Amino acid sequence: MQRSGKKTIYGWTSTKEQVELTLEKTIEQIHQDALKELESASDEESIKAISIRYLGRKGAVTQFLRNISNLPEDIRPEAGKKANETKTNLDVLFKKTLKELDTSSWKTDDQIDVSLPGRVTPRGSLHPITQITQKICAIFIRLGFDVAEGPEVETDYYNFEALNIPKNHPARDMQDTFYISKNIVLRTHTSPTQPRIMEKQNPPVRIVAPGKVYRCDSDLTHTPMFHQVEGLLVDKNISFGDLKGILTTFVHQMFDPETSLRFRPSFFPFTEPSAEVDIRCVICKGKGCRVCSKTGWLEVLGSGMVHPAVFENVGYDTTRYTGFAFGMGVERIAMLKYGIDDIRKYFENDLRFLRQF
Ligand SMILES: [Zn+2]
Repeated sequence: MQRSGKKTIYGWTSTKEQVELTLEKTIEQIHQDALKELESASDEESIKAISIRYLGRKGAVTQFLRNISNLPEDIRPEAGKKANETKTNLDVLFKKTLKELDTSSWKTDDQIDVSLPGRVTPRGSLHPITQITQKICAIFIRLGFDVAEGPEVETDYYNFEALNIPKNHPARDMQDTFYISKNIVLRTHTSPTQPRIMEKQNPPVRIVAPGKVYRCDSDLTHTPMFHQVEGLLVDKNISFGDLKGILTTFVHQMFDPETSLRFRPSFFPFTEPSAEVDIRCVICKGKGCRVCSKTGWLEVLGSGMVHPAVFENVGYDTTRYTGFAFGMGVERIAMLKYGIDDIRKYFENDLRFLRQF
């Protein structure tokens, strides 16, 4: 029912201004709904479906335009103008979105996006023990030594007897040995490389022998497997002075040219005389601390003049040749160099630890 001055549209009875306002809201609402749907559409199919829902033959905008002829004459032009604007806007927008979608898929499929950040290849590094082993060997190579290697599964003869440690000798107790069988052991030191090389080669001999060694021992400062570097120099007229000179040069190059060191009498079955080499504590500089047990000194090497019995075992003439030997634990050198207090850290494979080197 229509009453004078008022017109019914969409079931509402309104004045002309109200009708115009309502029309405007309706077309604006259709416009907004279309934009909202478009926002969540991500593929060609759904964008085309939205386009049909609004601009197709039975679409919302099309319906609105079709119904304009039913409106009161005086508001038809304004309503038509608004509806056509909406139609054009949406049409342009749908086409543009479809085109962009097309371009973006073309970009990712076939083209290199130069604006993407580069892919980093994770880089590994040498284990700190390997680094220190290489450093030790490099110093001796510069001093004229060659690098030699021997087996880790060793005979009792090379591990003990050739080095003047007979069966049942108390010196065997110094090394907690893994026995494979009665006469086969996991080498307890790199020293068996000495007789193995000397059997094959006449003097002069200048070698360093790095490698893994094994002992049944495990605590803060011991692991069942660890690394040593052994050294041997045999020639005419080699004296304890040569030993001191070579090892002092080594310590100065490995640690610091100012590092003071001392030779302390000791015992090894395969050297005579024997000496432990201590360096001034790198932590407290000799004042005394926990690491050096308040002594101000740290033991870094074992050394001595090769025992004549060892030379006799390999057939060297002890009246013509003398020599010296030395050995050091690589983990120990690395611990002192890097200030590490627990030897087990080397073998836990914790990347947070290993990345620091
Ligand atoms: Zn100290």
